[in-house]
Amino acid sequence: MSEIYEIGLGNNDDSIRKKADSDFVSFWDEQAKNLAWFSPWEKTLDWRPPFARWFVGGTINASYNALDIHQNTKSQKSAILWEGENGDSRNLTYGEMFSEVQKFANVLKSLGVQKGDRVTLYLPMVPELPIAMLACARIGAIHNVIFSGFSATSIRDRVSDSHSKVVVTADGGYRRGKVVPLKDVIDEAISDLDFVEHVVVLERTGNKISMSSKDKPWSGLVNDASETCAAEKLFSDHPLYILYTSGTTGKPKGVLHGTGGYLTHLHSTFKWAFDIKDSDIFFCTADIGWVAGHSYVAYAPLLHGATQVMYEGAPDFPDTSRMWDILQKYKVTIFYTTPTALRMFMKFGDDIPNSFDLSSLRLLGTVGEPINPEVWKWYYKTIGKEKCPIIDTWWQTETGGMLISPLLGLNTIPLKPGSGTLPIPGVNIDVADEHGDNVPANTKGYLVIRNPWPGMLLTLWGDDEKYKTAYWSKYENCYYPGDYALKDDDDYIWLLGRADDVLKVAGHRIGTAELESCMVSHPDVAESAACGIPDDVKGEVIIAFVVLKQGVLTDSSVLEKELSNKIRTDIGAIATPKQVCFVSKLPKTRSGKIMRRLLKAIGSDEKIGDVSALEDGASVTEVQQVYGELQKSIRENSK
Ligand code: ATP
Ligand code: MG
Repeated sequence: MSEIYEIGLGNNDDSIRKKADSDFVSFWDEQAKNLAWFSPWEKTLDWRPPFARWFVGGTINASYNALDIHQNTKSQKSAILWEGENGDSRNLTYGEMFSEVQKFANVLKSLGVQKGDRVTLYLPMVPELPIAMLACARIGAIHNVIFSGFSATSIRDRVSDSHSKVVVTADGGYRRGKVVPLKDVIDEAISDLDFVEHVVVLERTGNKISMSSKDKPWSGLVNDASETCAAEKLFSDHPLYILYTSGTTGKPKGVLHGTGGYLTHLHSTFKWAFDIKDSDIFFCTADIGWVAGHSYVAYAPLLHGATQVMYEGAPDFPDTSRMWDILQKYKVTIFYTTPTALRMFMKFGDDIPNSFDLSSLRLLGTVGEPINPEVWKWYYKTIGKEKCPIIDTWWQTETGGMLISPLLGLNTIPLKPGSGTLPIPGVNIDVADEHGDNVPANTKGYLVIRNPWPGMLLTLWGDDEKYKTAYWSKYENCYYPGDYALKDDDDYIWLLGRADDVLKVAGHRIGTAELESCMVSHPDVAESAACGIPDDVKGEVIIAFVVLKQGVLTDSSVLEKELSNKIRTDIGAIATPKQVCFVSKLPKTRSGKIMRRLLKAIGSDEKIGDVSALEDGASVTEVQQVYGELQKSIRENSK
């Protein structure tokens, strides 16, 4: 039995769910009216499986909805409270954002960018990144943001695939006190891409760079640009952006999002999940290079005229207290982060957050991976001081916005650590077996989405076939996210890990999240990852990789025994790992997600495949070494 936390925000509105249950199409039709449209749509949903078009014929603009609509009432209100890694700060009002975005939109036009053209943005976490995105949106150009930690090869692939004629970058960005030479990386990435006509270079660090005839300084262009640029009236299904997925399971996919449906999804979920109020200070720690940063940094807060904090650098720089320092300094009321960041903060110990005043917080959230119940409880107690509800939000780059989450802006719902609770209104999410039939309560299966929703991707950029096979081929007319899950007796959904990573031992299926959460609940364990490797007798055996908390001195053989015993009692003997390897870090994507497929490849002695998304190659080397030594000692002991 999981623990239940009866904590909400005092809201109690059942009407939204009731409306959605009766007819999801007219429900979303109503929600879309909360946005500003230039002209109404003729058809709410055109569903030609697997392609959905929302609000067909209606015209709208994302930049207009983020900025223009606030100018009469909120031009003096802070839109972005920006904190540089080196302690710099900037306060950009809605009025200032409006003028900067219009100027940059005019810059793009002066460089020949037209409606439908792609613009690659490779920028650090500075306000000019959302400014450039909104400028693209304003003129109907499609932005293609690339996380500023990616290498030249990864950028080359993405610039080529999107065929961007303009690239926007910076002379550098700050990360852990050092300058990341973004412009040099771009020079290498596009050296033979002749279709790239211009490179706009933002002056962020002032470090030395070489400028060619294609390169133009941001400041010069913006100084010459006019301050007015009317927002283009775009059809609702006009593409807003391309964004490549995190690459946790393989080669990243170029997800293409539209405008009217996507904005409707964001506007609704931001209000329902975060209960956003005019007085809130919202802080989402996601880099804009990932979908969480697109949806809930660059767009959703602005649609609501909210004030948000944006942070440039590493969460543990110059020291492990940085995050709590920012929360205290800006009196953040809503904090949205990832389980991986929380596990890191937890590893550093409670004294650090305990020495800050976090009393402004009223709501906490997570996204990106399953949150281990132990980590949820730590977040609740140590950060939220048992007075802030937590929303565990499940969604994907492909879904555009949240699809499963407690919606405390609507209702108080009992929270269970580790469950995202219920789907948002207007989507039909089930857990199905191999044939697509719903499984009974408390039975594991695959998450499926049975109807289109407004934030749904239009397709994969330039690859409708891959779009069909990746998401719509496992089941007929039913979206397959690739996640393993179960529904409990209260219909709450529990995400158990990736379907590809499921551990199959002697006929039993175990989600990686179940096993990893069990290990993380051991007081010495900070992080863990489990994977299955082939075994002649059992078909597959489990190996586990474990990172310990700071300062743990317990002997590893004692720990291994304790972990095995814990797994035996909490899950069952079947889930006991054959081997436990202690490492100092796990291989993760640049967005912080564990790459279990690399562990599996190492354990199975196979090629490790695409590593473009890997954050730190040293983690793989360490795993190979520790795992290799373990095998050697096992062989020697068995002689
Ligand atoms: P790729 O598709 O390239 O492998 P990715 O799936 O990591 O990369 P994202 O779109 O950033 O790319 O991540 C979506 C995935 O993250 C989900 O499919 C799910 O596996 C996981 N996820 C996100 N939020 C949650 C959550 N709250 N609980 C459990 N898992 C989550
Ligand atoms: Mg994915």
